[in-house]
Amino acid sequence: MGADTLDHKQYIERYLSADADDELENHERRDATAHVSGCEECRRMLDSEIAMKSEVKKLATVTAPVELRNRIMAALDEVDRRSQRRVRPLRRAVAWTSIAALAACLIAVTVLRIQQPANPAFDAAIESFVKSEQSFASNVPSKSADELAVTYIDRFGVPMAWDFSSIGLEVAGGRIDQSSDGRPIGYSLYKGSRGSLLAVIYRNDVFNFPVGGETVKGIHIYHYRGYSVAATNRYSVFCIMVTRLPTSDLAQAFSQLPS
Ligand SMILES: [Zn+2]
Repeated sequence: MGADTLDHKQYIERYLSADADDELENHERRDATAHVSGCEECRRMLDSEIAMKSEVKKLATVTAPVELRNRIMAALDEVDRRSQRRVRPLRRAVAWTSIAALAACLIAVTVLRIQQPANPAFDAAIESFVKSEQSFASNVPSKSADELAVTYIDRFGVPMAWDFSSIGLEVAGGRIDQSSDGRPIGYSLYKGSRGSLLAVIYRNDVFNFPVGGETVKGIHIYHYRGYSVAATNRYSVFCIMVTRLPTSDLAQAFSQLPS
């Protein structure tokens, strides 16, 4: 092997990490490519180094909130600065792995911290939803969304019924009970092969929509306690919807509502 060609050890110790970062000078890349193309072990190491870096970047750019993302990227820059580019790959791999672990921990902590505080209205709706998964007995005309709409106009003055056919859910039943203070509370159950959704309808003078989540056509959508929860109102009539389907399903269904 000539002096101007890389041997296996040289490539791993001096070139691998920079190669994965695509930071080699032209003449270095020529030598590196020559070695890697003839060395299966280095091809594998290069692939896994690239994959690991890409994982960390994805973690830092996709999952993390902006502030955390910036902190992770700053930490990665610091690692790069300290490693003087040609650091031995083992140490560098350890550094990347610990950054990935750190990032995962930070994300877990941050996700916990930004989780919404307990919302009694959502908690009650979730409790009703879980019960509806076990049993649900209709007591109002509810063969279709139209029938439900008529029922709700009759009892609440607004047609609080939704068409969820775009996400595979059909009306499975409707019921109106009296809450403990004598006010009516409506329940609409939608079912499909992928799951179910319960809409809870009631009058309320004050309802504060929690911050966070997203809003589609005036309907607030949240990920709450592992459920997807949507909330909206017409005047003082509120509707809270709970499902185990992803929030993206709710967003898709509501996006088809007229503006
Ligand atoms: Zn090699």
